[in-house]
Amino acid sequence: MSRVISIFDTTLRDGTQGEGISLSADDKLKIAKKLNELGVHYIEGGIPGSNSKDIEFFKRVQELRLDAKIVAFGSTRRKDSVAAQDANLQRILESGAQVATLVGKSWDFHVHTALQTTLDENLAMIYDSIAFLKQGGMEVIFDAEHFFDGFKHNPEYAAAVMKKAEEAGADWVVMCDTNGGTMPHEVHDIVTKLTGQLTTAHLGVHTHNDCELAVANTLSAVQAGARQVQGTINGLGERCGNANLCSVIPNLQLKLGYDCIPEERLKQLTNTARYISEVANVNMPVNQPYVGNASFAHKGGIHVSAIMRDSRTYEHIAPELVGNKQRILVSELAGQSNILSKAKDMGIELDPTSPDTRGVIDRIKDLEHQGYQFEGADASLELLIREASGEIKELFAFESFKMLVEKSAGRPTVSEAFVKLNVGGTSVYTAAEGNGPVNALDNALRKALVQYFPSLREMHLSDYKVRVLDENDATAAKVRVLIESKNYEHAWSTVGVSGNVIEASWEALVDSFRHALLAEELTEVEDGDLSINKRGIVNH
Ligand SMILES: [Zn+2]
Repeated sequence: MSRVISIFDTTLRDGTQGEGISLSADDKLKIAKKLNELGVHYIEGGIPGSNSKDIEFFKRVQELRLDAKIVAFGSTRRKDSVAAQDANLQRILESGAQVATLVGKSWDFHVHTALQTTLDENLAMIYDSIAFLKQGGMEVIFDAEHFFDGFKHNPEYAAAVMKKAEEAGADWVVMCDTNGGTMPHEVHDIVTKLTGQLTTAHLGVHTHNDCELAVANTLSAVQAGARQVQGTINGLGERCGNANLCSVIPNLQLKLGYDCIPEERLKQLTNTARYISEVANVNMPVNQPYVGNASFAHKGGIHVSAIMRDSRTYEHIAPELVGNKQRILVSELAGQSNILSKAKDMGIELDPTSPDTRGVIDRIKDLEHQGYQFEGADASLELLIREASGEIKELFAFESFKMLVEKSAGRPTVSEAFVKLNVGGTSVYTAAEGNGPVNALDNALRKALVQYFPSLREMHLSDYKVRVLDENDATAAKVRVLIESKNYEHAWSTVGVSGNVIEASWEALVDSFRHALLAEELTEVEDGDLSINKRGIVNH
């Protein structure tokens, strides 16, 4: 049997059913482009005609000329009607998509209870709808809804649905675990019984994660003979989500030896996952397998020293295979060896015997003693290490800031920040409002810098956390602020500590902007020559 697995992405359709996810047509097009770069075979874009965003998506996606096939989704015709007169089927045909996914019932209970029709009429609905779209020249994928539940209750009927879809010309028949309640051994048993029963259509699988088994069930189905997997990036989807393609693809390819996407494209997996979570504005769990920020992070002396000898001691794959990377976490307990390997991670070779290195290690220890924590603030740590190794030339210098918070009876609170910086010898003074003091500071700082460094437009604050450090002495307590910032490619975290929450936030904010500019600093600033001139700054 072929080892080639067809990857069907439904992030833009089933994925958008997830709570809190809303994508504009532009967002959908950006995601489609990214999925195409990853090398998925099918991109299900939505339901044509269901809303203006999807109409616009299907129109504009054609201009992108993607290699992946674009799929339009819909249901089989309504009961007791004619497929050719069904407005939804008509819209699928006219959508411009090459492929249609039609969902239909395969569980007798659903036919009686949800559709309220006869088992025969349901078969006719499936047959007519598929045949209609096949006559229109489309590739047709039939999603057999609740297939596993249906098969458990009435195997003859579920199998008859499948046969009917094939008879009507379906290219793929996809078994769906719509309620997500099936166990992996059941999936394996059922798919094994059906493999070989179809002659022209191929089998696929579509699972949901209600028992946290969507990935496991997908793998079981493939091992039993399914050749198409449907899922979403980061497992987005309604309730507990769909099968997570970011785990399904590397599991199939790296562990089980199936052929999903080209090896060099697999290296884009981490970047794709992060990009899509950014566009969809949903946080990725740090411990998400394969592509998470902590998937290959190591902390603590013994692990780290073993990892430095051979990464296979604590890593199940080389992180580079999926475009992720190893991270060494620094904690107060770990001391010198962790800081040195962290620096190495950044491409900086610190000589452990040099006074400069001793200086930076002492400084980090001292800061940790004051309440800074660099485990959750990689970017601040990187700035410290690079500073110590003399690599950084600051692109802007802080002069002062002022905050105004005003509350009058019956009016909303207004926060306003005034920021004074020096950029390349020029004094810059800005003021900005915000929905809170930190937001106002962020806005003012951004306004001051963005005119000189337009790339900062792409970054934004994605998380803000405050922690009181000495809870016994609440009035005099210090606070630690952790800020996470993002752009389309990266996320980075910075830290600030002070007795004053605004000051701590300011420190973390400034580090966040400095880190965003790091790449520019390292490449563009040489020996006192402020080459930021080319951005239009007159260098005095
Ligand atoms: Zn689904």
